[in-house]
Parts: sequence; structure tokens; C-alpha cells
Amino acid sequence: MKYPDCTHVIGGQPVAGGPRFMDVHNPADGSRLGRVPLGDAATVDRAIQAAEAAFPAWSTLPIKERVQVFFRYKTLLEKHLRELSALITEEHGKLPGEADAEILKAIELTEFACSLPQLAGGEVLEVSRGVECRLERVPLGVVAAINPFNFPSMVPHWSIPNAIALGNCFIMKPSETVPYSSLRIAALLKEAGLPDGVFNVVQGDREVAEALCDHPRIRAITFVGSTRVAQAVYRRATGNLKRALCLGGAKNHVIVMPDADPEMAAGGVLAAMSGCTGQRCMAASVMVAVSATDHIVDKLAHQARRMVAGKDVGPVITAAAKARIEGYITEAVAQGATLLVDGRGATVPGKEGGWYVGATVLDHVRPEMKIAQEEVFGPVLAIVRTKDLDGAIAVENASPYGNAASIFTESGGAARSAMERASAGMVGVNVGVPVPREPFGFGGWNDSRFGVGDITGKGSLEFWTQSRKITTKWNREAGTNWMSK
Ligand code: NAD
Repeated sequence: MKYPDCTHVIGGQPVAGGPRFMDVHNPADGSRLGRVPLGDAATVDRAIQAAEAAFPAWSTLPIKERVQVFFRYKTLLEKHLRELSALITEEHGKLPGEADAEILKAIELTEFACSLPQLAGGEVLEVSRGVECRLERVPLGVVAAINPFNFPSMVPHWSIPNAIALGNCFIMKPSETVPYSSLRIAALLKEAGLPDGVFNVVQGDREVAEALCDHPRIRAITFVGSTRVAQAVYRRATGNLKRALCLGGAKNHVIVMPDADPEMAAGGVLAAMSGCTGQRCMAASVMVAVSATDHIVDKLAHQARRMVAGKDVGPVITAAAKARIEGYITEAVAQGATLLVDGRGATVPGKEGGWYVGATVLDHVRPEMKIAQEEVFGPVLAIVRTKDLDGAIAVENASPYGNAASIFTESGGAARSAMERASAGMVGVNVGVPVPREPFGFGGWNDSRFGVGDITGKGSLEFWTQSRKITTKWNREAGTNWMSK
């Protein structure tokens, strides 16, 4: 094994021991990197005790002092960018440029947290002569985040900097598939001066996630992962009377109009489909080609055929994921879809043990096929043909998900119409992956999000704090009415 066993991090210290363990692999060649401990309710309890011990001092520090840690942390992320990115490539399989982008996004999220003193100020008003009402934001206490495999660093940063800068103490549960990045996050936060116990990591699988949902002293939970688990975690956490915001899976549609710029549309859809090997909740998965768009489909298929596994498209996360994705392709072909580009059975010389699926394009997919309805989470594009924009919107609206939708067109009217009618929280025009950058919050609709508000941006201020309203009267002689008497 390349690395020693991964650990939990509790009270600023590495904590060894499972009780169970699982192997961690490098998806690029299938080799074993190390082992991750799978914690239990006792591990969660230990982390909560460490977080509770740190809470009184951390939560009473003025926010302007708390964010100083994140100014220093941001500098450390910049300094260690290549090393952090190489670790993501190793445990997740992302191509180096994609892994760099993930750390750059983590830096941007940290930068937003540095600006929180400018946004989190309270309110004050003289509501009656001599009577003042004041609203303060107060941290919740010990909070937790449960993370998916597909962004070992960026998705945890949707929660960590804001929750902690707002005064909470934090428990992170990484995906058991990509645990090593969390150790570097913990080490760099410590180096930046974060007091021990404010940030803790409990490694594990479902057992730890459920223990976090059940523990009476966890006040709020964010979850990011598949819709099935998002629903289960949301029900369990809110059933235990906690605040919860649970982001689920996605099936994102890109509408391509006949007037679209062919270069921009073909390149944009292909990048949105194949970037991070399609393992993004914002990945373009269905292209709805409206009317005379053969010239754009041809261009896209031509470019997809030239993509090289291992160079232009990284591996998928596990052997099981490769089998699942290839199964979707095989079934769609059997049901009559036209296979324009086939990525099944892709291999990379020298990395025969890796789990690769090449870029795949299927044309004439019917909306009722499984590949058009379910999240594939691989570099696969299903092209559905429609006669007009109304038909394309109907295909998009029929999906139970609602993360992202885009349109490629040169017509402002068509773009405006699609923006208004798409049933998705993040909508793009001539942009394949309409991820809002900070300070705009990230969050989908429908089966892509359970709970209120966005996970990042200003929405996170509401989620990670509660407001205290204080009414005071010091000026006895100012009485003018029933309240100020
Ligand atoms: P997953 O749902 O399998 O796992 C997510 C987390 O839940 C992991 O930490 C896992 O250990 C834990 N878990 C698994 N089963 C559980 C259970 N029964 N009860 C409690 N916890 C459980 O997701 P994944 O495969 O790691 O990630 C990919 C999914 O995440 C995709 O569906 C993708 O669309 C989604 N995702 C969504 C967003 C978004 O913003 N909406 C962002 C990133 C990823």
C-alpha cells in the first residue's frame, strides 16, 4: 500500500482504529492506496465531545477574528495547490487540470467565508422612542457535513469555511471512497491556526452518517450525494428535529437550437458531458437537439471520437461504476438508440487495471428510455430529438430532478423562454455547466435538493446561524407610548 492507514481527526489529533476498515484504490490503475477506517456511533460521540469542548471559546470570538484563520488557510491552499490536486488525482482519478480546478474552487469558497464579516452584521432599529431592537446572528453549536465521492475537496468546502467562520464547531464525514484529502484539509486548517476541536473528521460509511443524524447534540447537517440517500438522510435528520439541507442527484438537460453557434454548442456540450468523466452533479447528460441540428451533432460526435481515455477523460470511481455505466449504454442500444461514439471497454496502455469508460454519444434516444431518465454519472451523452422548443422544454420538465438546465442559441427570445420554463435551480445560456460562482449560492430544485435555501453564498448564513432578537430600553424619560413608557 502506498499510504499508511487513513485516520479520523478528533480534537486536532489523528485517531487510529476503525472499528472496521475498507481498502482505498487509485481508479486510474486499480492499485490499492491504503485503508480507510469506518467509524461508528462511539467515534461520532468522541468527535462531538471534542467539538463541544471547543465551542464556547470559538463561538464567542468576534467573527472578524475567526475569519483571520481563513485568510491564512486560503494562502495555504494556494501554496499547496499542486500537492492537494495530485492527491485528488490519486484517490479520485480526476485529470490534473480538473483536480486543480477543484482546489481553485475550494479557494474561492474560502475567499467568500473571509468576506462574512461584511455580510453577517446584525440589524438595529429604534422601534419606539428610546426602545431599540437588535438582531444578532448566533452560531448553532456542533454541526456536520456528509460528503460524496465526486469532489473530495470542493464539496466539503461548500460547508466547512462558512459554518466555522460563523462560529460553529464542525464534524466532516468524507466519502469512504476518497478519504485522504480530508486529512490534508484538517492539517492545513490547524496550520492556519484553527483551535483543536473546531474541525473534526470522522471517516466511515452509512453507519457514521446515521449516527450523525441520530445524535441529539448535532444541531444541523448538510448532505451531498445521491437522491436516494439524500431523502433518507433528510428524513432521518429532520425526524430527529435537526436542521438539514440535503443535495441529491441530477439529470441535466442541454437544449441545442438550430441557430446555435455550432462550435460553441458542440464544444460546450461535450465538455459539460465529459468533464470529470461525467461524475458531476452539473454534468450535461441529455442533449435535446431541436429540429435541424445534425451539423452540431456531427461536430460533437467527431470531437468525442478524438477524445483519448486517460488523457482527455479520466477513469470512473470504481469497477462497479464502470459496469453500471456500460450497462446503461448496452441497454439503450438494445432499445434502439443509435451509438455514434462507443466508450465501452476503454483501456489505457500501462494502466490496464484502471476503470475507464470513454466518451460515449447516443443519438435518437427516446425520452422514456432509462438512459434518458436516470442519472448515469459517466461520460455518456443521450441525444433526444424534438421538433421545437416547446417539445424540448417538455422533455426537460418531465425529469423529477432539477439541478441544472442550459440552452445554446443565438436567439434572446428562445433563451428567455427556456430560462423561464426550465424546472431547474441553475440555468445557463450558451454555458454547458451553469455553476454559479461565489457569491451566488449553489442549489437545485425538486429531487436534487431537500431542505430550504442554497448550500453556499448568502443562503448559508441563514442555515448555519440562528437569530437572537434583543429589545432594550435605557432611556426611562423618553416614554411616548405604551412601549416606551
Ligand atoms: P452516495 O449517496 O452514495 O453517498 C454520499 C454519502 O452518503 C457518502 O458519504 C456515503 O458514505 C453516505 N451514505 C451512503 N449510503 C448511505 C445511507 N444509506 N445512509 C446514510 N449515508 C449513506 O453518493 P456518491 O456516490 O458518493 O456521490 C455521487 C452522487 O452525489 C451523485 O448522485 C451526484 O449527483 C450527487 N452529487 C450531488 C451534488 C449536488 O449538488 N446536488 C453535488 C455532488 C454530487
